[in-house]
Amino acid sequence: MRNIVANVAGLKIGRGLPVVIQTMCNCNTNDIEAAVAQCHAMRDAGAQLIRLTTQGLREVESLKEVKRVLREQGNDTPLVADVHFSSEVAIAVAEVADKVRINPGNFATEHEKAQRDFKRFIEVCRRHNTAVRIGINHGSLGKRITELYGNTAQGMKEAMVEWVQMCIAEDFYNVVLSLKASNTVVMVEAYRLLNRWMEEQGVIFPLHLGVTEAGNGDMGRIKSAAALATLLQDGIGDTIRVSLTEPPVNELPVAAAIAGYFQTPVHLGDDTSHTGPRSGIYTYDTPTRDEFIIRASCEIGPLLLDRKIDDFEIEATCAGEKLPAAELDEFKDNLMQATRRRFTKCEYVACPGCGRTLYNLEETFNEVKRRTSHLSGYCIAVMGCIVNGPGEMADADYGYVGEGKGKVSIYRGKEAVMRSVPQEEAIDALLELIENDKKTK
Ligand code: SF4
Repeated sequence: MRNIVANVAGLKIGRGLPVVIQTMCNCNTNDIEAAVAQCHAMRDAGAQLIRLTTQGLREVESLKEVKRVLREQGNDTPLVADVHFSSEVAIAVAEVADKVRINPGNFATEHEKAQRDFKRFIEVCRRHNTAVRIGINHGSLGKRITELYGNTAQGMKEAMVEWVQMCIAEDFYNVVLSLKASNTVVMVEAYRLLNRWMEEQGVIFPLHLGVTEAGNGDMGRIKSAAALATLLQDGIGDTIRVSLTEPPVNELPVAAAIAGYFQTPVHLGDDTSHTGPRSGIYTYDTPTRDEFIIRASCEIGPLLLDRKIDDFEIEATCAGEKLPAAELDEFKDNLMQATRRRFTKCEYVACPGCGRTLYNLEETFNEVKRRTSHLSGYCIAVMGCIVNGPGEMADADYGYVGEGKGKVSIYRGKEAVMRSVPQEEAIDALLELIENDKKTK
């Protein structure tokens, strides 16, 4: 078996190495001061790799400047450029960034052109020692793949295999792969299928794990921990990002706790912090509530996702205080829904935001949640931009998608039913649409 180790400006990512923790700036890349400040804060909070939106050639120049200032100020954290749709931007930034994240399938509508552009791109990466992440997301599979395999985990794996085979044919191995989805079952299945295929080929590329659009608060943490833990416990996953619709520094302690859980695993019954299902009840005693959430999700989440258990009882003491029954019930409902075993509340899909977001995503998402929490059984997406948002909202029933300049598009499924709605009227418009649809069902 050949284990590939990606090298991102000296940072090694690969099987058997410690899991690398990463995050992404949510500020405008052209705001050099803000981007530099955010990168410093992320490094201080534990980020080992930092990604920045690079949507055009102007952002390529900005990224160059951000990198120059960071290095001058002693911050050597490798930088990743996030590029969508443009092979020219990917090629230009490959000379600047330490790693470039692309989805080569969206380089061009014509597949042969995308393949030609991808070859040109990896030649530039080879010359500049730039690592590559090929990132294929559930929500953005091309028509060619969905017609053959549907919008499925199998489709995600097949879409990836084509590009990996090209890397092998071109003898280019400085590559990390990701197959993210907001649906934890689809995400876990896609990575397992890809991992099995790599084992069959005898070549293991490093994998970047993440649940996209996980949302915020407890649910964002629970979804990420449950899905990532399911894969990490099988030895699948070499770098992780926990995407939260919150300030990006909040992602880092969560990611570190998940990675840490597997680097120093505490197995059931090994210590007094929790006893296993032998008693029929999972019992936790942790210094903080956050630690309880992550630990219990890492431990019980995989059992639910893999259908090894159907239900569970739980007790927890945090900082010496027993958690009240209502809080434990809430945790249990969240974990059951995050692992898609029982739906009791409205499901949300929300991107973490990035340099493309032109409104206060966090505040808006919280307001949408507050006003739609009664809609159990529905899935509502809140997305930061019109460029990637609609593609990435996967199976959401309705979507609130920022267009920029105070305007919002409202989606029913994949269809934009209202465009350019003033932001202050957009949540009302979304609710009205859902209520009208209910009446005509
Ligand atoms: S959907 Fe959200 S995270 Fe993705 S590119 Fe748009 S604003 Fe950024």
